Amino acid sequence: MNGKEKKAFTNDLQYIKGIGPKRAEALFNYGIRDIKDLLYYIPFRYFDRSRVLKIKDIYKNINSKIEITIVGKVVYKSIISSGANKRLIIKVSDGTGNIDCVWFGGINYFIKIFNTGDFLAVSGIPTIFNNTLQIVHPDYDKLSDEEDFDFLNTGSIIPHYRTSEELKKSGIDSKSFRRIFKNIFDSNKIFIEEFLNESIIKRNNLLSINEALRNVHFPKSNDMLEKALFRLKFDELFLLQLLVFQRKKKIKIEKKEIKYNIKSNLARKLVDSLNFNLTSAQKKAINEILNDMNSEKAMNRMLQGDVGSGKTIVALIAMLVAIENGYQTALMVPTEILCEQHYSNILNYLKDFNLNIRVLIGGQNKRLRNEVLEDIREGRANIVIGTHALIEENVVFKNLSLIIIDEQHRFGVMQRAMLREKGIKADVLVMTATPIPRTLSLTLYGDLDLSIINELPKGRKPIKTYLIKESNIDKLYRFIKEQVKKGSQAYIVYPLIEESEKLDLEAATKGYNYLREHIFPDLRIGLIHSKLFSYEKDDIMTRFKNKEIDILVATTVIEVGIDVPNANIMVIMNAERFGLSQLHQLRGRVGRGADQSYCFLVTKDYLVNKSERQAFNNDNDQQIAIKRLNTMISTNDGFKIAEVDLEIRGPGDFFGTRQTGIPNLEIANLFTDENILEIARKEAKEILTHDPDLSKFENQRIKRIFLEKYSTGLNLSQVG
Ligand code: ADP
Ligand code: MG
Repeated sequence: MNGKEKKAFTNDLQYIKGIGPKRAEALFNYGIRDIKDLLYYIPFRYFDRSRVLKIKDIYKNINSKIEITIVGKVVYKSIISSGANKRLIIKVSDGTGNIDCVWFGGINYFIKIFNTGDFLAVSGIPTIFNNTLQIVHPDYDKLSDEEDFDFLNTGSIIPHYRTSEELKKSGIDSKSFRRIFKNIFDSNKIFIEEFLNESIIKRNNLLSINEALRNVHFPKSNDMLEKALFRLKFDELFLLQLLVFQRKKKIKIEKKEIKYNIKSNLARKLVDSLNFNLTSAQKKAINEILNDMNSEKAMNRMLQGDVGSGKTIVALIAMLVAIENGYQTALMVPTEILCEQHYSNILNYLKDFNLNIRVLIGGQNKRLRNEVLEDIREGRANIVIGTHALIEENVVFKNLSLIIIDEQHRFGVMQRAMLREKGIKADVLVMTATPIPRTLSLTLYGDLDLSIINELPKGRKPIKTYLIKESNIDKLYRFIKEQVKKGSQAYIVYPLIEESEKLDLEAATKGYNYLREHIFPDLRIGLIHSKLFSYEKDDIMTRFKNKEIDILVATTVIEVGIDVPNANIMVIMNAERFGLSQLHQLRGRVGRGADQSYCFLVTKDYLVNKSERQAFNNDNDQQIAIKRLNTMISTNDGFKIAEVDLEIRGPGDFFGTRQTGIPNLEIANLFTDENILEIARKEAKEILTHDPDLSKFENQRIKRIFLEKYSTGLNLSQVG
């Protein structure tokens, strides 16, 4: 079907059979704005008839833990209560037997969805409970008309599309999408222009774009479906690689206007004053950084090191070199608390140095702020520590040459670029506790050089991590009380600030009041969250540091960078609600002193009890929560944790658009599609080697598609 191109279809969705003006509007609001968006609206899953079993045959497969599908009629529905627990049961029969579909959550929603007599396809991993076959939280599909019977009888692969409440209200469900696509492909009028060169298609044995799109919506076979997805993923990764290479090229040619002459008297003085030795990984990183600073090219380096690996001191040494050469330095951090903490730490390290260290944050009073701004402008400030207040327009440096960005995952590409513009083609070092597998960092930060601190300072005791059932929490409270009596301090973290009845979460404020009144009336408890004024947060952190507070109740504001070595207990409430990297960051707040540290992950009993966990075999969210918790108790290694996190969430989510400046991938997954990524990378490199600006005639269609997608991304090319 490629080759003889017919006239491009009108973009007006409403004229497509099965859509009409109302649905077109709903689709538009949903983000499907034209025919191209629609064709690229890829099913999230496929229902393969070859996996359909008769219920009587399930018993044979019951121990294989393999997902199966059965097709049958709803014969009965009921809500069953046992104690505080409720569950919804939908009994489905296919004439050879019955199976119970069970829901523990969303009962009020699901009870309305199913009615006796409905014809369903349900998929999941079957188990036996009380001698009854059941599938907990199955995927389901209502099958109600001829189309579905057709699909089922012809052995097709049925695509499933995500929808929203609004789409459903205007009558678009997964099945409507199928019907719309059927109309589109039956009409044979729609063609998307092929943009890849014939040679790329041939070399990699790709489907044409039209064949790929058709098969992604109407797979002829599993094999064709795979090929179709391969083609679409290839496209996405190919364009992404073009972007990465373009950015890298821009940065390469950027020369510094400054010249350092590596003087290291100040740095040496600092190192000599430390009461510990730098680890060899720290030394290596320092060397790499100083080499960059010494070279003509602007530094664009990422420093990766697990929480507690000692990144701050590395940064500080680089700053001292810049200062000794007569330049200013800036340290940008994501929160005001972290800002104050870096300030007091750095002040402490540099107390005998006679340097001017200033803080710039949003909450300062005007007089102080003006004073700070003037010090920055006149070049009197040697080190400026600040939040994103640093990138405001009225902050003008006299001669900023080195920019350090801490916990960089909290900042966007845009913010980094803006700070960089304040320097004189400055050196940039971004620091992160999020380790990234090498292949991925090549892709995402192809333009950043990488230093890794892969060892922790000697003598740290590994943190002990435990899962705690909510029903057992009193035991934990007793343990904390004993430890505090011996001089320990603890963090207790809650997921949200305000009580949210809907999510049934314990809120920090409520938790704080409860703990203070009922559990630890004789201990000193503090509460910290993001809604406090900065001086209030500052005050609380100082008191905690000075051991005037025993237990600090907090929201995730303490997630990044806080360093109070005496605190050795971390309690995380509703731990199932947190992401892995968040859990790891939180845990990293302890384990910094000489005492044994503990991390307690408090969660629902059913997520801890082995026998109950099994009931959630089909429930992806619960499975993922269990996987996260298990990972936390089985390792302290930030790198392993990042890998699992990446696997669970996929890189789009993991890194986020904000961090990379790269739009989330919609079809490809950088983690699981690494092989496609490599091929795409090779092809992108090949093209750019012969045509660096994509100016040749044969590459014009690629260029157009590329710019359509990434023109804004390219403007941010200055900083990773
Ligand atoms: P992070 O990499 O998480 O930012 P920090 O820079 O906050 O870690 O360092 C954590 C703690 O370890 C600090 O108290 C710091 O003084 C200490 N530290 C740093 N380097 C070493 C070292 N080589 N030996 C012992 N302690 C160190
Ligand atoms: Mg840090």
